[in-house]
Amino acid sequence: MLEPKILVRLKKEGYKLTKQRQQILDVMLQSKTRLTAQEIYKQLQRRELSVSLDTVYRNLKLLSAIGIVQQISLQSGALYELMQEEHHHHLVCVDCEKIVCISACPVMPSYLKDADAAGFDILGHNLELYGRCNDCRSKRQLRKAEKCVKD
Ligand SMILES: [Zn+2]
Ligand SMILES: [Zn+2]
Ligand SMILES: [Zn+2]
Repeated sequence: MLEPKILVRLKKEGYKLTKQRQQILDVMLQSKTRLTAQEIYKQLQRRELSVSLDTVYRNLKLLSAIGIVQQISLQSGALYELMQEEHHHHLVCVDCEKIVCISACPVMPSYLKDADAAGFDILGHNLELYGRCNDCRSKRQLRKAEKCVKD
């Protein structure tokens, strides 16, 4: 079953829960991990739903724009996460692509005022902070230390 919150959000923005959207969201709901569009597409094929990869991308884009799904941009491509909790953002490790959810959101009301002035009605946003996780930092430090010993 889909979260009622998702249905409310779709309706509020004037979108219907098409069979394709429902199936995409269900695949994401069932999955314990974040998925790529390709992986979602493969799951849909396994369910014998006739849908093109292009349609999957288009729907993910829409769901992400209205804040039902969060797109996380990695160097290797994009991952999609169903927004089940409160609005939040992500830390991404540039070495191992580990992802951590953080609750802080830097988007201030002034952004929305500016957007309003530009004639935009803002639906949602994505934000990733790129860095190195603890493990990768220790590994780098170790490598640096080893190099020093050799020198
Ligand atoms: Zn890492
Ligand atoms: Zn998250
Ligand atoms: Zn935010």
